Amino acid sequence: MARIQTPHRVRGTQDIFRDEQRRFAHVLETFDRVRKLYCFERIEIPMFEATEVFARSIGETTDVVLKEMYTFPDRGGDSLTLRPEFTAGIARAYLTEGWQQYAPLKLATSGAVFRYERPQKGRYRQFHQIDAEVIGAPEPAADVELLVLADQLLRELGIDGVTLQLNTLGDAETRDAWRAALVAHFEAHRDALSEDSLKRLDKNPMRILDSKDPKDRPIADSAPDIDAYLTADARAFFDAVTAGLDAAGVAWTRNARLVRGLDYYRHTAFEFVTDRLGAQGTVLAGGRYDGLIESLGGPPTAGVGWAAGVERLGMLVAEPLAESVFFAVVPKDVAAEAAAEKLQAIIRRQGLPVDMPYKGNMKRRMQKAASSGAVFTIIIGGDELARGEVSIKEMETGDQRVTSLQSIHDDAITAFAETFNIPLRDAR
Ligand code: ATP
Ligand code: MG
Repeated sequence: MARIQTPHRVRGTQDIFRDEQRRFAHVLETFDRVRKLYCFERIEIPMFEATEVFARSIGETTDVVLKEMYTFPDRGGDSLTLRPEFTAGIARAYLTEGWQQYAPLKLATSGAVFRYERPQKGRYRQFHQIDAEVIGAPEPAADVELLVLADQLLRELGIDGVTLQLNTLGDAETRDAWRAALVAHFEAHRDALSEDSLKRLDKNPMRILDSKDPKDRPIADSAPDIDAYLTADARAFFDAVTAGLDAAGVAWTRNARLVRGLDYYRHTAFEFVTDRLGAQGTVLAGGRYDGLIESLGGPPTAGVGWAAGVERLGMLVAEPLAESVFFAVVPKDVAAEAAAEKLQAIIRRQGLPVDMPYKGNMKRRMQKAASSGAVFTIIIGGDELARGEVSIKEMETGDQRVTSLQSIHDDAITAFAETFNIPLRDAR
């Protein structure tokens, strides 16, 4: 029979294993710990939504909606889309699930998101985000809290060399005036703009400011800043955010070119950026989106939030320690296997990790135990077992001694630990 060809992994997806998995888990665990310090509630939302949830809220003219969404008809003929981000789904849930009664809400979630992109280092088609949002709070204190949370997360992950770049997009009045000035500036340089930016000029001129096309850069760099157009209210809001950051000891720099393209983005826009990941240097990004919920048919509702790529953060953390195998159990012969099982069960029920190589002769199993990283190997069987004893080998020194099995069984591991001077806190 011809050999069946193994199906391959789909382009842009990942199988996360060993070192990468440890980094990944470390990011998620740290996020979960830190979000609790800020009293953000954990939520879960669907991985797919009606396509219009994203089309309406992310905006029909963005790259994500135009080119990157995984959209498909389901068997009933409805158009569904795999979530390319969390914010839109959270806003939809806020409206359809009656969460409005709890406003303001501080929410956190994480999971897979999907974008049809060109895969490269730090850029995948299925990747993972952590996400934090505050819905129903128009106060600058919400922006500050989200930014301080992000800063503490990066600190606790031990990621340094990341800069918080901050901008304001002002209020509606500011934005309209600035937008008009931008359009006038770009119109004057129409001939020199890239093809993509010419398209943006009609629908989304602010996006030209953060164009990565070298052709656009000089024109984007010489475009007018928002500052001259800020209303007193918009200026006061931005000042309150920066004062809050300064008070909390969070460093930031102004980046007047940083924008979010959509009409409903207001006031704060930010990115945490590193130069350690090449073109994929933005690790965490967000802003205030006070018009988004209205675009989904809800009442005017304030919102602000951020998302960060778990893989990109994972690449920046030092490799977390491997999970420890504290004890290995090696039975000397088949007759000792039941006693070895019993011993393992006792140790595990006391909350200590133990592993037993499944098969092989004594020598093979000792080699397995050594390569597992076990601190102690318990060798059980033969005459020793008949006398109610086991041998315990300290792997690092090779020291081996005999102890009574009963002493491990009884108040068991504590007494055992004392005998062998094992720091139990490290083991747990
Ligand atoms: P980029 O400019 O890198 O495409 P973006 O502006 O599309 O990023 P956001 O939509 O703001 O990114 O998503 C928030 C975060 O999610 C990013 O800062 C990044 O860490 C991560 N991210 C975005 N797209 C990908 C991807 N395709 N693969 C892995 N991580 C991603
Ligand atoms: Mg992108």
